[in-house]
Amino acid sequence: MNQEFRVLLYYKYVPIENPEECANEHRQFCTDLGLKGRIIIAAEGINGTVSGTIEQTDAYMKYMEEHPLFAGTIFKIDEATEHAFKKMKVRYRTELVTLRLEDDVDPNVVTGKHLKPKEFFEEMQKEDTVVIDARNDYEFDLGHFRGAVRPDILNFRDLPEWIRENKQEFEGKKILTYCTGGIRCEKFSGWLLKEGFEDVSQLEGGIVTYGKDPEVQGELWDGQLYVFDERISVPVNRKEHVVVGKDYYTGEPCERYVNCANPECNKKILCSEENEHKHLRSCSHECRVHPRNRYVAQHGLSEQEVNERLMAIDKEVTM
Ligand SMILES: [Zn+2]
Repeated sequence: MNQEFRVLLYYKYVPIENPEECANEHRQFCTDLGLKGRIIIAAEGINGTVSGTIEQTDAYMKYMEEHPLFAGTIFKIDEATEHAFKKMKVRYRTELVTLRLEDDVDPNVVTGKHLKPKEFFEEMQKEDTVVIDARNDYEFDLGHFRGAVRPDILNFRDLPEWIRENKQEFEGKKILTYCTGGIRCEKFSGWLLKEGFEDVSQLEGGIVTYGKDPEVQGELWDGQLYVFDERISVPVNRKEHVVVGKDYYTGEPCERYVNCANPECNKKILCSEENEHKHLRSCSHECRVHPRNRYVAQHGLSEQEVNERLMAIDKEVTM
């Protein structure tokens, strides 16, 4: 396998005076360089994931290191055999990560204690410790730390409300938080401190760094890591691989994500290839019969063929 490409994941919370202008400059530079990926620039900093050749990614990291605002950014580097994105998008947004907060949290002012992978590994096994996954439910369902709490949320911005509703579960405990690359926890752990929780720590560098750490090697991580690029998932635990994902239709072990073929639903579903075809890649009957069902269009199914599959599902359910 020739690994001539890389995927970079990074963020930096830093005040930017003219974020829109900064985004325009950044877009120009990245496009000229031939990088692909997704970068968000806001008044509070930068968050990106990009792919490119070794030369391109080297040039980008050098540019960042020489940049007056972005110097010191830590890059998580994955080797790859090709680009992980189709396009280069650099966008200005009002926030890097969105938590529905009355007052925003500035991680440069308040944030949880940073734990290195080895420290996190040791802390999470102690009594009176609760590990909270700071990601969305579909990310958790593909993989998570053994014993971690799964917030019942579709979007990260709903996390504060969920914590308030379940406060009694966490009071008086040591709280550890983790997310993909660390950016969400910088804010979330700061918010927990402001909310009155006293002992709050976060996994420095996120799950990505934890999986690469030569000592812990991803231990106590079950399943795969959901990533926001074309790879969809990457391995974490290099000592053992326990599958925790479950096929949406049958509950069998599964780590393959597809999106519901109803364009208005688009829900992420874990399912085997066989079940994808059987269920027209849709999460419900309503989605299967949606007039713009993408699976039906892609496979050019006639009305009769669709009906045959619907009947086959019905038959199975009633058996
Ligand atoms: Zn659906």
